[in-house]
Parts: sequence; C-alpha cells; structure tokens
Amino acid sequence: MSGYRGRFAPTPSGPLHVGSLVAALASFLDARQAGGEWRLRIEDIDPPRCPAGAADEIQRQLEAFGLHWDGPVLWQHDRDDAYAAALARLVEQGLAYPCSCSRRQWRDYAVYPGWCRDGVREPGKPVAWRLRSDLGLRPVVWQDRLFGEQRFDPAELGDVVLRRKDGLWAYQLAVVVDDADQGITDVVRGFDLLDNTPWQRQLQHALGFPAPRYLHLPLIIGEGGQKLSKQNLAPPLPLEDARVRPLLHQALASLDQAPPRELATAPVAEQLAWAVAAWRPERIRPDPHRPAEPDDLPT
Ligand code: GLU
Repeated sequence: MSGYRGRFAPTPSGPLHVGSLVAALASFLDARQAGGEWRLRIEDIDPPRCPAGAADEIQRQLEAFGLHWDGPVLWQHDRDDAYAAALARLVEQGLAYPCSCSRRQWRDYAVYPGWCRDGVREPGKPVAWRLRSDLGLRPVVWQDRLFGEQRFDPAELGDVVLRRKDGLWAYQLAVVVDDADQGITDVVRGFDLLDNTPWQRQLQHALGFPAPRYLHLPLIIGEGGQKLSKQNLAPPLPLEDARVRPLLHQALASLDQAPPRELATAPVAEQLAWAVAAWRPERIRPDPHRPAEPDDLPT
C-alpha cells in the first residue's frame, strides 16, 4: 500500500468548469499512478459564497468524469472544533494574536504592519486573529514539483488572517488543519494558489504538521487573458457522456500528456486507465498561464 494521499478541495461557489477539471484530473492521476488514495474535501467555510446544491453538482460532475474519490467526503462546515483547537494551540504558543485594525487603517502598507502584535489597539472592537510572521521560518522555502524552488520573505507575507472579524475561519487555517488531519502527502492544484502556499507552510511549521509535497499547475485562461472562474462565468462541466468524453481528452491534452487522438471518443474509464499509466507530470510546460484551446470550452 502506497503512503501517497492526495485530495481535491473545491469551494462549492458554483459548478466545476474546465479549469477545475484540469486540477481535479491532475491530482487524481498523480494519486492513482502512485497507487495512493484520492480524497474529496468540500471547502464550504464561507456559506454566503456557497449556493445550495453546488456541492452536490460538483460530486455529480466528478462522477461523470470517472473521478471517483476514496473514503467519506470531508465538509469544512463540520470542522469548527478542529479549527478552534488549532487556533487555541497557536495562541497558547504566542503565535496568534487578536487584531482590531481595519484594512482602511493600514491602507498605506503592502501588508499588515503588525500593530496589534503586543496588544489589541482598540479593545472592545471586533477582532480578527492573525499569525505572527516575525517568528518561525525565515525565509519560507520549498521545492514545487513543477515550478522549482520557491522562496518568500516573511516580511512580505505579513501576518495572515486565521479567523475573520465576522467569525468565519480563513481558508489558510482550514486548509492546513484539514490537509494534516486527512494525512495528505501531496497537494496538486492550480497556480493561482501557489502564492498561498508560503502561509500554509508557515502554519504547518507553527502547528508541528508534516509538510506535503506541492505541484502547482498552469492555469487555463480564457479569452481576454482572465483565469477561467465561476466569477467570469466559465461554462459548467457537462454531465452527458457524449460531451464528457472529448472534454476529458482535451483536459489530458492541456496537461501536455499527449493522449492519442482515437482516445477522444473512448469511454471515460478507458481514457483514465490510459492516463493513469501514461501520467508524466514533468511533461507539463510550466507556463503559469495557458490560453484555452478554442475547443477547451464546453459549449
Ligand atoms: N478551495 C480552493 C479552491 O477551490 C482550493 C484549495 C486547495 O486546493 O488548496 O480554489
């Protein structure tokens, strides 16, 4: 049994589109080729951003593309106690502090200058919780499997928010606690998240968690150079097999895996079996942004 465990961790702010398919597919292939597990985590920590039904739709889309996950789905809305325990540990170690400052107050600075580190500036006001970046790892360095060595200066990262003033947990804390609790060894996700990784590395270090390996993937950008996203209304992935097959083939092509042309009409299971065996992540051209092929977009 391989020790590899990967995950796909969508935010259910809408259905999956071709950009999210590429991330899901790459992380699935990487896990399956390693003989590892592939988990699904629904990152619904920010309920106002998550319309009813989107998480179910995402699961139907993954199934339609043959991307079957292992074990139960982990829902972030169930994880309040785990996040609270992690924050309490950081506070106990003097690594997290409450902060009453508003963005407006520090608008002349690139990152929050740490004014509340030694005591809340305006007691009685609502507080966010932040991680101290002036202690711990310096600089933050890791080796991305595709983009090579990454190096960030903590002074440029600032004191990342762990819990927001409105009480919602911040993505950075939730993702680190969940990756550790789920025993994730390998994170494969889009390049848009690469600059979040240094905060996650700082937090893993502060909480004593093992650091997963990271592989960030080129983003497919649409017309006009924007990232494909729900916000710019990238079309949702289809569920009908006749449309799924060619789209799966295109996703393999955009990961530079050079799938044989005749595979484009083959059943999903057959395409995936080929792709698991053929998976070579080192073939992916490390351009952070990859224009969509004209037929990358479902119609
Ligand atoms: N939930 C994040 C998203 O949908 C991804 C988190 C991750 O892969 O670390 O963009």
